[in-house]
Amino acid sequence: METEKLAKLEFAVQMTCEGCGDQVKAALEQKAGVHSVSVDVGEGRVLVETSLSSGEVQGLIESTHRLAVLKGMGSSETQDLGAAVAMLSGKDRQVQGVVRFLQMSPDRCLIDGTVDGLEPGAHGLHVHALGDLTEDCLSCGEHFNPFGRHHGGPQDAERHVGDLGNILAGPDGRASFRLEDTQLKVWDVIGRSLVVDAEPDDLGQGGHPLSRLTGNSGARLACGIIARSAGLFQNPKRVCACDGLTLWEERERPIAGKGRSNL
Ligand code: ZN
Repeated sequence: METEKLAKLEFAVQMTCEGCGDQVKAALEQKAGVHSVSVDVGEGRVLVETSLSSGEVQGLIESTHRLAVLKGMGSSETQDLGAAVAMLSGKDRQVQGVVRFLQMSPDRCLIDGTVDGLEPGAHGLHVHALGDLTEDCLSCGEHFNPFGRHHGGPQDAERHVGDLGNILAGPDGRASFRLEDTQLKVWDVIGRSLVVDAEPDDLGQGGHPLSRLTGNSGARLACGIIARSAGLFQNPKRVCACDGLTLWEERERPIAGKGRSNL
């Protein structure tokens, strides 16, 4: 079962000291969810095959007091079908995050992210129809729902394509997650928006009037436009757009109101 969720993550890690590589290796090996680790000290490269999210692996590497930058993500079966990223930001930047989308096959979209500043617990995560942030997250439109269905959970046939269920924030307010989705396709959501909500999504089962519309997941806490990115693992020569810090070339930065506006 776990093998289905394995992905390969490539990190750039500065390893200049004697024994650096061994320390990084030791921090990763034997950890639950880590399948294999390979460290190239000279290249400053760490490859991890894992079921953990990129944020969790980054945390393990950085526990050795070294900065790790995600350079690529993929799997052995990854086809070059497209990748995207959303930088989430909320009011007063209290909630912020980076979520990456990678279409690994026509039916498998990997969604990997870290969101900080959340109340501990579950929070609904949805792709919304519009890439319009002119009124912050309120102008993102409804859940992306091209087939006119009811709201549901990610495992349901009856759901909005944008219904990604819940992400879980720990006591430190951080949600680090990796999902795989069969309905959502990267090319359908580029230019739309990703929104994280204040409350848990009841996946359409709550019996509340809003359950079958939105999952009754409360206010929109943070949102961001989903923008096309490069950074496929299989193309190491391509400039990577994986790291949140170095992500946006100014000319590619999605401007509020310049995303998709068609339903
Ligand atoms: Zn929905």
